[in-house]
Amino acid sequence: MFIDTHCHLTDNYNNETSADDIISRAVDSGVGIMICPTANPTDIMPALKLSKLYTNIYCTLGIHPEYAPVDADTYLTDDILSDSRVVGVGEIGLDYHYGNDNRAQQIKLFERQLEIARRHNLPVAIHTRDAESDTAAILRGDIRGVMHCFTSSYDLAKKMLDRGFFFSASGILTFKNASDIRETFSKLPLDRIVIETDAPYCAPVPYRGSICEPSMVIETARCLAAIKGLPLSELETILMGNVKQLYPKIEI
Ligand SMILES: [Zn+2]
Repeated sequence: MFIDTHCHLTDNYNNETSADDIISRAVDSGVGIMICPTANPTDIMPALKLSKLYTNIYCTLGIHPEYAPVDADTYLTDDILSDSRVVGVGEIGLDYHYGNDNRAQQIKLFERQLEIARRHNLPVAIHTRDAESDTAAILRGDIRGVMHCFTSSYDLAKKMLDRGFFFSASGILTFKNASDIRETFSKLPLDRIVIETDAPYCAPVPYRGSICEPSMVIETARCLAAIKGLPLSELETILMGNVKQLYPKIEI
């Protein structure tokens, strides 16, 4: 089976598509497990609820930098993070794409959530955009996790590789203009790669432009198999092992 390690199942895809439809289409396509992250604090309870409702859905809970400033402890309580369905903290990180006015608040929120992850011994799912040096400077020490939807430089990849991080390839890997990202993934070791859709965003080729669903993660797997020169079935087994390494709480 394939595992979509990052799909926002609590987003409103469109008014006619229910989470139930999306999940069954994924399972029918061979995507047996889905991990639902949160970005907005208001997604935290719905994501937890969904992961309790379906045995093949797990969640990572966190607050995206765009919601800074917000008090992480109000939402990420010990009680919630101790739940067996919560396998990590994310997505968390830094995003300077739209300007610099709240950098200090983003850093504060990021550092606080890393503390929470450490306390619960949970891996983290990192979002970073236009903020490579601050991200690398903050992610030091004993923290482990995944660089979600990795599109940053090979320079950052090398640093995070040394610190034991995984790298997640999204649908962007299949984009015509993404040869630099394919190049990065060709150099990354196979035992540190996982795949995701980041649904409902970033639908892979040949679905580019449509609403992305976890079933489409197979296209990213196909592209990665070609980059690595591996049969798809062999890659499938390797990726399953990697997910178990990254998120030990998942039952595979
Ligand atoms: Zn995401």
